Amino acid sequence: MLFGKYVNKFYYKYFWFFFFGIAALIIVNYYQLLIPEVFGKIIDGISDGSLFSDLSLLNKYIGQICMVAVILFVGRFTWRYCVFGAGVRIEADMRDMMFLHSEKLSYAYYKKHKTGALMALYTNDLQTIREAFGRGTIMLIDFVFLGSMALFKMFRLNTILTLISLIPAIAIGISFVSIGKKMEEKFRIRQKAYEDLSDFAQENFSGISVIKAFVKEKEETKEFNRINDDNYNKNMSFLKFYMLFNVILILVLNLIISVLFAGGAYFVIDDPNKFSTGDLLAFVSYFNTLTWPMMAIGQLINLRSQAKASLSRVSVLLDEIPDINDNNVVETKIEGKITFNHLNFCYPDATENILNDITFTIEKGEMVGILGKTGSGKSTLVDLLLRMYNVNENSILFDGIDIMKISFKKVRESIGYVPQDNFLFSDTVRNNIAFACDDATDDQIIESAILSDVHDNIVEFQHGYQTVLGERGVTLSGGQKQRVSIARALIKNPPIMIFDDSVSAVDTKTEEKILSNLNELRKGKTTIMVSHRISTVKDLDKIILLDGGKVVAIGNHEELLKTSSLYQEMVKLQTLEEEVK
Ligand code: ATP
Ligand code: MG
Repeated sequence: MLFGKYVNKFYYKYFWFFFFGIAALIIVNYYQLLIPEVFGKIIDGISDGSLFSDLSLLNKYIGQICMVAVILFVGRFTWRYCVFGAGVRIEADMRDMMFLHSEKLSYAYYKKHKTGALMALYTNDLQTIREAFGRGTIMLIDFVFLGSMALFKMFRLNTILTLISLIPAIAIGISFVSIGKKMEEKFRIRQKAYEDLSDFAQENFSGISVIKAFVKEKEETKEFNRINDDNYNKNMSFLKFYMLFNVILILVLNLIISVLFAGGAYFVIDDPNKFSTGDLLAFVSYFNTLTWPMMAIGQLINLRSQAKASLSRVSVLLDEIPDINDNNVVETKIEGKITFNHLNFCYPDATENILNDITFTIEKGEMVGILGKTGSGKSTLVDLLLRMYNVNENSILFDGIDIMKISFKKVRESIGYVPQDNFLFSDTVRNNIAFACDDATDDQIIESAILSDVHDNIVEFQHGYQTVLGERGVTLSGGQKQRVSIARALIKNPPIMIFDDSVSAVDTKTEEKILSNLNELRKGKTTIMVSHRISTVKDLDKIILLDGGKVVAIGNHEELLKTSSLYQEMVKLQTLEEEVK
């Protein structure tokens, strides 16, 4: 059992599961304790011969044992199904809750937190929480009910022997409570080590091409061994601690059983009518049954410590407040006019502005280039247009309305975006292109692919549009990826389209073809082409030249050739590059 802000509600939601599960468990506990009683009677019947003279007595006992066996069978199935079932359901619900929340968190959050660490929350930590609800509930109920029922029966048989066996049992209970904290600490360290391991493996597999190209396999393996050793050591430290207590506990319990046999024999010899051999066997059997609740409380403390540590790690994720929110939203339709009004921007946790005093306007229907050297702030500007980060009031406006006053969903829905990294999902080419439009027809998908000049490539694949990309399927070339990514944005045909360096991996001929298709398709709609290549922007209505996070020139190709020395320099350099090619 586990309590906390994000889990208490599950006791209401799965009340009947817990109710029937716990009821079945208590019934099982009760009937389980009848067995030693019946065995005791059988032993006494054998010792005094009464069992052989009266066969109906033997049949009665056998009948009782069979009945108990059936009750135990049904009861055990019921509690396992209900209690473990509740645990599995809670785990699934929490995973849904975490995923829903994770999807709300901003891009900035994912830039700061590593994927491997997040995956550890979704796997290891959730598993521990499930265990606390499943096994944890069983342990608690067994401790309370099985423990007290067994004790009650022991007291009824022999008070002195029961008191003798209770003294070490209480000492064990107290010692377990005091080690709970230590256990929690050790578990937290163990989870952190697992998180590091998961992180390292994840990053390594994602970057495998770089590792191989730089022949770094040996170094990476060495580093992995170090992290794995660390994980092993922390696991061992936790296990040793836990095992030591378990072994000591079993040793103590066995010692107590020996003492009970010796003490019990004394009572049997003293007065067999008051305490018979059968009573002694039943007593030891009850004590044996009592060992489980005693072990269970130890394990429960351990499990609860782990689950508390896991829940607090999961709560950190769930407590994270999404930093992109809608406040005082006004209803509006985005037509395509974009205004930057003295925009300054500094990344969260950074100290210096990346963008400084950005001021320019893009009219509806214009095709505009944002040109700049690498690192000049182009992608940052695009991220801000998509409201990936918050900006100062009235520094970006769509059709005269502050971006901070428009719902961020509306902003993103109105923009078609081709990201610089051209990320595609491990899914079919068809589904990748149709990502933004669930109801896209095959004709629309093919049309977008033709416009982005990738249709001919796709039909050449063995499975055409049904070809699976990525991990389990075909890997596309950089240029093919870019064009599939363009097709994905085109199918949306929104009022604003942004291409972030999206034709950099295709040759100039293909670039020309795509640009001329875009000219046709995007008539009357705003299009922004981000690039560091003059060829991409030279024929556009307007070019905004960025340098060091500042706008240094605005105009068309001819105007910039006359007015901007930086532009002239870039043209000269890129013409030279072309000639060398
Ligand atoms: P490229 O042509 O190479 O794509 P760019 O013009 O798109 O370059 P940006 O990606 O906008 O450049 O980066 C501009 C600057 O912002 C760079 O100096 C970069 O180091 C910095 N930067 C980017 N992302 C972050 C971040 N999350 N936190 C802090 N600084 C960042
Ligand atoms: Mg960029």
